[in-house]
Amino acid sequence: MTSSEDTLRVIILGSGTSAGVPTLGCRCRVCRSSDPRNKRMRSCAYIEHCGSRFLIDCGTDFRTQALANGVEDVDFVLITHTHADHIGGLDDLRAFNMVHGHPIDLYATPESLAEIRKRFAYCFAPPPPGGGIPEFVVHEINGNFEVRGIPIQPVPVFHGRMPIVGFRIGSFAWLTDVSFIPETSYNLLVGVRILVTSALRHRPHPTHMSLTEAVEVARRIGAEQTYFIHMCHDLDHEETNAQLPPNIQLAYDGLRLEL
Ligand SMILES: [Zn+2]
Ligand SMILES: [Zn+2]
Ligand SMILES: [Zn+2]
Repeated sequence: MTSSEDTLRVIILGSGTSAGVPTLGCRCRVCRSSDPRNKRMRSCAYIEHCGSRFLIDCGTDFRTQALANGVEDVDFVLITHTHADHIGGLDDLRAFNMVHGHPIDLYATPESLAEIRKRFAYCFAPPPPGGGIPEFVVHEINGNFEVRGIPIQPVPVFHGRMPIVGFRIGSFAWLTDVSFIPETSYNLLVGVRILVTSALRHRPHPTHMSLTEAVEVARRIGAEQTYFIHMCHDLDHEETNAQLPPNIQLAYDGLRLEL
């Protein structure tokens, strides 16, 4: 039995690829669809666990996602990689600094942290008069770590040629922007019950798994339930899910998971 504090609650804040769906300027069937599950903001997870509230990535749509889902505070952020759709919302976290009066811990690989320091240089410089910049405390990921009593397992994966990380927290794993999973990382995923991973579209792509590739990976990992995120406008929600097994399905923005 787990107490309610130990329950891991996830809200998938964004299930879309870097451009989002609808894609600006596009008039395709999915972009014009009235199904709310075809409206996909940029990839982001909000998690409540052991009394902490945290994010996996903080993309361009974060403020809108937080307002839509009642996210009231964030204690820390786990960063998978530094593409704009995954870190573009970091500046918006300063509202939580101001309202709740605490800094926000960022966890990322040394490569990602170097990139964040460059792209958000103003956040690491002396504060300007009047403040108005986020207050971050940065932590390098070098293997397993623990945050506020929560053990976190980084899972190394490839995004094209770029090494990035996914995260396993208990029996939950989030692996976005994946094109290849090394053997050693499959070993880190044994026993995962809920897997969230990425499936861009039907056609192959150099830096993302296609739907067929993602289904193969999901089968191999063998979670009780797998959800796909980071979809582009090629995939209609209902039509695609009808062709997938019931335990391997496309996610949608606002989907809540509990384990
Ligand atoms: Zn992405
Ligand atoms: Zn479109
Ligand atoms: Zn990416």
